[in-house]
Order: sequence, then structure tokens, then C-alpha cells
Amino acid sequence: MIVVPADAMVVLVGIAGSGKSTFALAHFAPTEILSSDVFRAIVADDEADQSASEAAFALLHAALEARLARGRLSVVDATNVEEWGRRQLLEIAHRRTRPAVAIVLDLPVEVCLARLGLRVRRPVPPHAVRRQHRELRRWLPTLGDEGFESVSVIGSEEGVDAATIQRARRLSADSAMSRRNRARHDDARSSDRHRNA
Ligand code: GDP
Ligand code: MG
Repeated sequence: MIVVPADAMVVLVGIAGSGKSTFALAHFAPTEILSSDVFRAIVADDEADQSASEAAFALLHAALEARLARGRLSVVDATNVEEWGRRQLLEIAHRRTRPAVAIVLDLPVEVCLARLGLRVRRPVPPHAVRRQHRELRRWLPTLGDEGFESVSVIGSEEGVDAATIQRARRLSADSAMSRRNRARHDDARSSDRHRNA
């Protein structure tokens, strides 16, 4: 069970084909999900148009900040495999004094490539997927030090099927802050608990 504070920013982390969008739709309301693909489509009418990424993320960040300012749970559905991208998100959550939780879909790269091979809608070149996977693996050991109050790593398809989300009560900004400080010491345990869960 993954516990998510009711006013949290939930950052999904996973390479293309790892199942982020499927996971988001299974566990969260459509209006809670901020998808980089959707924002690319909003600015370019094409969710695969990488030249639209900068404008798309500017809108995604603005929507995220507006929601967090209102205490609305927000799920960031983007690969988020790069540290600098996660840092931008964490800065927004910090500015709005909202807790941040990371959910990592760390599925085998071959599983993701096989799924993408079946997907006609939006092909992603295999070399790009492997590069994302190297980036994910490089940062995974220190993800718990970046400022997330919890990091849940799901390492298998069975783990994805079994995953449940428990929404915790909304916290005041002050208690969220003290909880975040406390959680820093729990990061290692929290990651272990959910690894291959
Ligand atoms: P994303 O690129 O990380 O957003 O991945 P998607 O959610 O788009 O999923 C990629 C492909 O894998 C799609 O064709 C999904 O139908 C499929 N998929 C996603 N989650 C699962 C899963 O848990 N099991 C199986 N077998 N397929 C999945
Ligand atoms: Mg997706």
C-alpha cells in the first residue's frame, strides 16, 4: 500500500512503456493527472512532438502550481527520469508547502520495449528508451535524498497489479513540514518496504 497525503504532489517516474499513464488512470481521477503528452497535444496537436516539450512543461508546471496552491492532489505523468526535471517539480511543491511523493515504475527495459513495440499510436525509438533506463538506474539509489517524503519503487508487473493507493488526511502546512523532516530519516526504510512490492 502506498500512502499519499490528500494534498500531495505525486511524481510518477518511469521510462516510456513502463505503464505510467495506465497506472495514473487506474488510481487517480482524470482531473488529478497532469500528463506531459496531453500538454504537448494542447500546444502542438501532437503528443509526440518533442519540439513542443518546453512549452508543454511550462503549462504543466503552471497547472501543477495552481492545483497545489489549492491543496488539490496532483499526479505528474511524465518520465521524470532526469534529476533536473524532478527538481523543478519539487521546487513547486516546496513553494506551495505540499508534500511530494515519488512512485517509481522500475520495470525491466525489455518489458517496456515489448509493450512499445505493440503500440502503434506513438512509437518511441528503442535507443531513447534505453537511455531513459540508464538515467533512471543512475538516480534510483539517491532518489530518497532529493526531497520526496516517500519513494515507492514497484519492480514488476505483479507489483503494479497488486499496488494500492491510500489517501491520507490533508495536513496543515506546518504538520506537513514536520512530517517531511521526520520522513527524511525513514526514506531508506520506505524505499525498501515498497521495493518489488
Ligand atoms: P507510459 O509510457 O509509461 O505512460 O506507459 P503506458 O501506460 O502508455 O503503457 C504502455 C503500454 O503498456 C500500453 O500499451 C499499455 O496498455 C501497456 N500496459 C500498461 N500497464 C500495463 C500492465 O500493468 N500490464 C500489461 N500487461 N500491460 C500494461
Ligand atoms: Mg504515458
